[in-house]
Amino acid sequence: MGAEEWSALAGVSSTVLALVAVAVALVAFRSEHQRARFEGARALHHDLTTGEVAAARKIVGSLHYGDFGFTPSPADLSQALTSYFTLLWCFERIEAGRTSLVRGIARGERSDDAVEYLDDLVAWHVAEYACGFAIARRKLSEVSAEEVSDADSASGFGRLLLALQERGLVDRAYRAATCPGAGCPCACHHQGEC
Ligand SMILES: [Zn+2]
Ligand SMILES: [Zn+2]
Repeated sequence: MGAEEWSALAGVSSTVLALVAVAVALVAFRSEHQRARFEGARALHHDLTTGEVAAARKIVGSLHYGDFGFTPSPADLSQALTSYFTLLWCFERIEAGRTSLVRGIARGERSDDAVEYLDDLVAWHVAEYACGFAIARRKLSEVSAEEVSDADSASGFGRLLLALQERGLVDRAYRAATCPGAGCPCACHHQGEC
């Protein structure tokens, strides 16, 4: 082989090596990107199940399932309202985080593993509170003798409910702002039944 042929071969080899390096970097970038997306989804679910949100869920759960045992003193009412909004704002953060994840889905794809992971984790919570918020709001309004003004705070929850219903993960009978009554699939309407 002459000098020119060796030189041509070396040129081809370095091009191949450069392409391999780019491919390796791309795979590493993609897996790091996907890891960050999963971590984001995990953090959003963690927010819903720990800390002040977990404490708020106990109080909203009492309102929802009936053993709303507090005396309607102004202090108790204030705590219940704080819990109600703490939980609504948590769902607002989840909806914002999900929207951001959806925007980051690779071009041409309709969904990806990170979004599906988040949706699967939060679906039953969203179904529960679709009815839960409606019942809690009604009881809070009865005690305070005025409507709970939550339209802005509840809009994120409404969008999240719709997105999960479109994916078939939450029963379409649920409504964001109201309990549909007799047609509501929530367990609170079936307590005491065998
Ligand atoms: Zn209901
Ligand atoms: Zn219910």
